[in-house]
Amino acid sequence: MADPKGFLTTPREEWPRRPVAERVRDWDEVHVPGALLPIIGGQADRCMDCGVPFCHQACPLGNLIPEWNDLVSREDWRAAAERLHATNNFPEFTGRLCPAPCEAGCVLAINQPAVTIKNVECAIADRAWAEGFAPPAPPERLSGRTVAVIGSGPTGLAAAQQLTRAGHTVAVYERDDRIGGLMRYGIPEFKMEKRHLDRRVEQMRAEGTKFRTSTTVGRDVDATELRARYDAVVIATGATAWRELPVPGRELGGIHQAMEYLPLANRVCAGDLESSPLSAAGRHVVIVGGGDTGADCLGTAVREGAASVTQLDIYGRPASERDEDAEPWPTYPKLYRLSPAHEEAGALRTAPTADADARVFAASTLRFEGDAKGRVCALRLVEVDSGRRAVPDTERTLPVDLVLLALGFSGPDRSDGLVDRLGLALDPRGTIARDAGFATNVPGVFAAGDAARGQSLIVWAIAEGRAVAAAVDRYLTHSPSRLPAPIGPYDRPMTV
Ligand SMILES: Cc1cc2nc3c(=O)[nH]c(=O)nc-3n(C[C@H](O)[C@H](O)[C@H](O)COP(=O)(O)OP(=O)(O)OC[C@H]3O[C@@H](n4cnc5c(N)ncnc54)[C@H](O)[C@@H]3O)c2cc1C
Ligand code: SF4
Repeated sequence: MADPKGFLTTPREEWPRRPVAERVRDWDEVHVPGALLPIIGGQADRCMDCGVPFCHQACPLGNLIPEWNDLVSREDWRAAAERLHATNNFPEFTGRLCPAPCEAGCVLAINQPAVTIKNVECAIADRAWAEGFAPPAPPERLSGRTVAVIGSGPTGLAAAQQLTRAGHTVAVYERDDRIGGLMRYGIPEFKMEKRHLDRRVEQMRAEGTKFRTSTTVGRDVDATELRARYDAVVIATGATAWRELPVPGRELGGIHQAMEYLPLANRVCAGDLESSPLSAAGRHVVIVGGGDTGADCLGTAVREGAASVTQLDIYGRPASERDEDAEPWPTYPKLYRLSPAHEEAGALRTAPTADADARVFAASTLRFEGDAKGRVCALRLVEVDSGRRAVPDTERTLPVDLVLLALGFSGPDRSDGLVDRLGLALDPRGTIARDAGFATNVPGVFAAGDAARGQSLIVWAIAEGRAVAAAVDRYLTHSPSRLPAPIGPYDRPMTV
């Protein structure tokens, strides 16, 4: 560390966000462009270069955080980019989208605000692209082995890049018309502009990875034929089977799944559509589900010009401070957090809630009510206690004309027949079963990411992609792999 007293003299300062009134009028990322670089050296200097760096342990990728904090504080950006890419294929994704379990685990966080690790990561990644420190890295020689990767989310992309760089010939099959998985058509532009994704895909193409878009394996391509054609297959198809809300009135018009709504908004940003057929413009919107997908719907509805937006969370309002007994450091605590989307909804006073951040906590939906045309016009809810029991005399009605369901995902979408056609075994949760080496019950077929782990995070998806690549490389070469395997299939986050 360049300044051993940095953590005593410099307060934590995050990448500033653009004013709410400005950013809700566009789809660009919420942060002030160019405002990170001037502050990031001082922030990296706050790192204590701990003898036992818990940040590193808390990161599923095993990012070498103290090393690159030190390099950034010394302004050695080239070396920082090299150390960052040593453990993470796509740091510009995690630098923008990760909830940063590393920061919850930072030793400084015991009694001070943590080092802004995620901002440092993003600064290095962006600088690496700006300075040309992330050139394509094609293999020196080809192995003669072929791999099909099914699914182009962060898992499939990480696996494909690792295997291509190891010399194998890799084709990525994707059912959508563009590459990227949930990062393309789930996550909104204001959280990560798609140019970051496009740039990586171009880098991968230059390295030799082939992409086959608009191709659903199981429907457009027979899964067993594909298995026969390639030496190995990696299934990275995600967990996109959404959960339903089986309450009276669910069949009414105007009630949609979050993943029916968000892709259309992303297509508007991509220039495919002039406006979204499900646009929230002028409508009273209720989002059922308190998680990040719900928050993405919230930010999207605000930008589309909703008349009001309310987000229902079945859980009670979390505490603002870590409960040291229930969720001690260095675990990732469930805290009350105001995401940029919540900030926007609150500041614009679009929420009919006392909180003014658009969320109603401890709320359970009882039923939807419709108008004469069969469209939803009201949502009846009740307050619930921590055991999800209704609290007497708390029923009330919210006026609504667009309901978005963001209740999470139960496992892989099986409508394409891929799982059944290959005869893949599932585990009791409905995700694809695999052994300690990421291998499914079908020889030569491996499974990774949300499809096998269940709904998770981008950082876990990249770690899964890297780990499955090492397993496939071992299988193809019949020898120990030189590719890193940061996690095993049964590793779980440091959360309670
Ligand atoms: C709205 C939303 C917002 C999120 N925000 C964040 C966030 O901010 N930070 C974070 O860390 N995580 C976030 N997540 C979670 C994160 O996006 C996922 O954990 C991650 O994308 C999983 O990666 P994956 O590659 O395993 O699967 P996916 O990203 O789901 O990719 C799977 C791909 O496989 C393709 N596919 C499926 N079946 C077939 C087939 N038969 N043939 C060909 N292709 C197929 C799909 O089209 C898809 O492109 C969010 C999730 C959602 C839904
Ligand atoms: S735990 Fe925090 S202070 Fe310690 S090395 Fe990691 S980032 Fe630096």
